[in-house]
Amino acid sequence: MRTSFTPTQLTDPHLAEAEKNLRACVHCGICTATCPTYVLLGDERDGPRGRIVLMQNMLEKGGSPDPETVLHVDRCLSCLACKTACPSSVNYARLVDEARTHIQVHYRRPLGDKLYRWLLATVMPRPALTRVGLLFARLIAPFAFLLPGRLRGMAAMGAKLRLSGPAAPVRAILPNPRRIALMPGCVQKAVAPDIDAAVARVLERQGIELVPLEGAGCCGSLTHHLGRSEDAKNWARRAVEAFERGEYEGVLITATGCSAHMKDLTHLFLDDPLWLPRAAALAAATRDFLDLAEPGTAKEPRSLRVAWHAACSLQNGLKITGKAEKLLESAGFDVVAIPEGHLCCGSAGTYSLLQPDIAGALRERKLENIAAVEPDIVATSNFPCLNHLQSDDTPPFVHLAELLDWADGGPVPVALAERAG
Ligand code: SF4
Ligand code: SF4
Repeated sequence: MRTSFTPTQLTDPHLAEAEKNLRACVHCGICTATCPTYVLLGDERDGPRGRIVLMQNMLEKGGSPDPETVLHVDRCLSCLACKTACPSSVNYARLVDEARTHIQVHYRRPLGDKLYRWLLATVMPRPALTRVGLLFARLIAPFAFLLPGRLRGMAAMGAKLRLSGPAAPVRAILPNPRRIALMPGCVQKAVAPDIDAAVARVLERQGIELVPLEGAGCCGSLTHHLGRSEDAKNWARRAVEAFERGEYEGVLITATGCSAHMKDLTHLFLDDPLWLPRAAALAAATRDFLDLAEPGTAKEPRSLRVAWHAACSLQNGLKITGKAEKLLESAGFDVVAIPEGHLCCGSAGTYSLLQPDIAGALRERKLENIAAVEPDIVATSNFPCLNHLQSDDTPPFVHLAELLDWADGGPVPVALAERAG
């Protein structure tokens, strides 16, 4: 596709990267059918091809974007199903990232929307604030119906989350020759510390010692997807400095959305020659749980049907397919595939809080597809999907590591223990 950026515009490496991808798009529309928002809304502007046109116009023109462009970019889940489907190797992530940053800098959102986004970007990356927020959500739950739309949804989601105390430090039982640093993460750390504990036990059995990455915090993915690239860079710099203070074989973060972001950190610093190589070193050292987990000795069948929910970040970001199913089978579970597994469940970081109607419709569709295969358990490796999908009337949702740990003699996963009463 032809573009008309000025030479001055193209001195910005982020814009130059976006332009390269705009030129690669031939507008064939092959990606359209894979896009969850297009499938749901049937509007070309809510599909990748239409969004690419809107984003090109916005970026070429510069300055304040029109509300129509913002609406359709905001509705994008960043699930990257379109990137996986594209035969011309268009990296849609580079386009939508640039568009979100441009919107954040140049668009004047209504005050309520602006404050809501600020609240998400401020509270969610910080486990201590998240715990306070959850406590508050519990207190106001009986009056949540009085709140305006998205705040009502946020309060309801907060009230259903388990409130955990600070996570017990992950410590090795035996000294192991391989040391991997564990990124603390954010919301998962506040509400589901059992996941990291299960990951530590699974890796321990493989001879990997997990040690906390002291000084690091959130990976920055959450703020990045809100278009707050300076915030995302600050979180990344903090992680880089923490990583440089120790000697580790790698750095692990146990939600695939976060590991996909960290493995792609380099592009955040394209315009920063000092931080670029340091971020590249952390990106190269980043591991997902599925990079490290290996099948143990094969277990007896358990007669438990496990539906595997592959997060978009796993299949389209990390491009790891098939391994989780093999691990679960080796652990004795009967693994079943979920129909329409390529369609996002609507979680997508803060998306379910920002676009509750679309996220709710995608959730319902995912749950119908899950119900069709009648599983006893649904497994995933991305806590945000688990949290978005689970409720009292769904099958229990469990992190992959908790199931593998249980199969090897670890504790019963919390979600299963709670159902058992
Ligand atoms: S992004 Fe790829 S698949 Fe989609 S319209 Fe462009 S070239 Fe075609
Ligand atoms: S990232 Fe997902 S929601 Fe956004 S355009 Fe691509 S397929 Fe559609």
